[in-house]
Amino acid sequence: MRSSLLRLPRLCDRQFVRCRQFACTNTSVRWSSSTSDGVARREWSTPLAKILGEAITTTGPIPVATYMRQCLTSDLGGYYTHEAPEHDPFGRKGDFVTSPEISQVFGELVGLWVVAEWIAQGRKSEGISLMEMGPGRGTLMDDMLRVGTIRNFKDLVAAIDGIYLVEASPTLRGAQHKLLCGEHPLEKTDVGFESRSKYDDKLRIVWCEDVRLLPKDTEQSPFIVAHEFFDALPVHVFQSVAPNPHQGETIQTPTGPIEAKKLPRTALEHQWRELVVSPASPFALDTATGITTTSSASAADKPEFELTLSRASTPHSLYLPELSERYKALKSTTDAVIEISPESQTYAADFATRIGTSGAALIIDYGPRAQIPANSLRGIRKHARVSPFASAGLVDLSADVDFLALAEAALNSSPDVEVHGPVSQATFLGAMGIEARVAQLVKQAMERSRGASAGDESLSETVKRIESGWKRLVDRSPQGMGVLYQVMAIVPHWPDLKSKNGGPRRPVGFGGDVVVS
Ligand code: SAH
Repeated sequence: MRSSLLRLPRLCDRQFVRCRQFACTNTSVRWSSSTSDGVARREWSTPLAKILGEAITTTGPIPVATYMRQCLTSDLGGYYTHEAPEHDPFGRKGDFVTSPEISQVFGELVGLWVVAEWIAQGRKSEGISLMEMGPGRGTLMDDMLRVGTIRNFKDLVAAIDGIYLVEASPTLRGAQHKLLCGEHPLEKTDVGFESRSKYDDKLRIVWCEDVRLLPKDTEQSPFIVAHEFFDALPVHVFQSVAPNPHQGETIQTPTGPIEAKKLPRTALEHQWRELVVSPASPFALDTATGITTTSSASAADKPEFELTLSRASTPHSLYLPELSERYKALKSTTDAVIEISPESQTYAADFATRIGTSGAALIIDYGPRAQIPANSLRGIRKHARVSPFASAGLVDLSADVDFLALAEAALNSSPDVEVHGPVSQATFLGAMGIEARVAQLVKQAMERSRGASAGDESLSETVKRIESGWKRLVDRSPQGMGVLYQVMAIVPHWPDLKSKNGGPRRPVGFGGDVVVS
């Protein structure tokens, strides 16, 4: 049995990190009494919270993106990077569960999508690389590689030069190595680490911490998968404020505020202001009930930081929201909130230039299909929603993915690619044949059960597990995974390649058939 909490918001909670005021009514147990010299000393939930709290107190509030980056991947105790070899975020004992961990069918169908795209692009016989961003336990890649998916296509297997995994977590890299490489040792290299596939001694598996560390070779055809990776990349948050013609322009820089000359034109326009993170008033910790979203939340889940609206422009607020017409269209709406993830856009742009005229990327994550995400930052711990501002480094943080921003970044950075989707996960998996694959697995389980011994999982349990996993992945109810998760593809733009009906080609899963070129 797998546990049930996904890394997803419940819609009713979506507002919970909205900039809020704290009431100062109660003294928190976590704020020590005054020291002998009369200076209050504060106790923090984690070493990382202390480092962040003290740094912010010294240098001023930080962007949400900086806070997220530190909480997730800081060397000083980030969620994915802290030294705790036994810490596994996945599964019942961990913090959340993801689709590849729910059903093997998920990874198998992603593997088949890669196969279909390789066929559509002419079955290249060399220079194929498989890449995965944030592979977690390695389950998705293992399911893609197993017999039944990629391994059934010997020509494709022979064409694969290497598997490249982008992973920030040393602990998860260890888990991936164990699953994908078996007994082959993990060796240090210039870009990260390297080993060999347990399925094929000659197949290299390479790890690095950032996609930019991987060489770009125009002869290579990369097939890239990113499942629940983009939601972990940091977002900046901006809010539009109404014009105030009486105020001069102050720009907040790391070395302090700079007074700019009063600009009559901009003073009459709405402006984007950045939401920034600073330590919450310690007196509010016991009463900040609005942020902590679960009734079982312990003291450790109480927020130690809060969001405030920067009173002046920041370099990010002057620059990032001006990069797309989608953001500009919202600028004159007072109080509109937008989240922008420049790092996600850098990744999407990297995928597009890497792919160029051959290869493909499949991005699966949660987020709205067309709107710009707002108020979506969330904290997840032990299968419950908690404040993203509690127990820094022990809470997983994620934010909705802006699919159209990824599409825009990909299209702007390479004239050779096109983007398909996003379509819902239910649509994608349905088109990839999930029902038929599940029926096949059930049939195989029935055949196996004839020779089973006592102590094996009973046939009815196996069938129930296979079917419940499938139903969960394609669940179309309002909070179901089938609709909350979206799938988007970046593929080469080959105008001469047509679909069966003579129209422009569409990849399988996005309205297309397997096209043999
Ligand atoms: N794709 C997996 C895991 C999703 S959790 C699954 O679906 O099961 C997010 C993954 O991304 C983890 O492996 C985490 O270690 C990795 N990750 C998070 N932030 C990262 C970053 N900035 N760079 C590289 N990897 C990152």
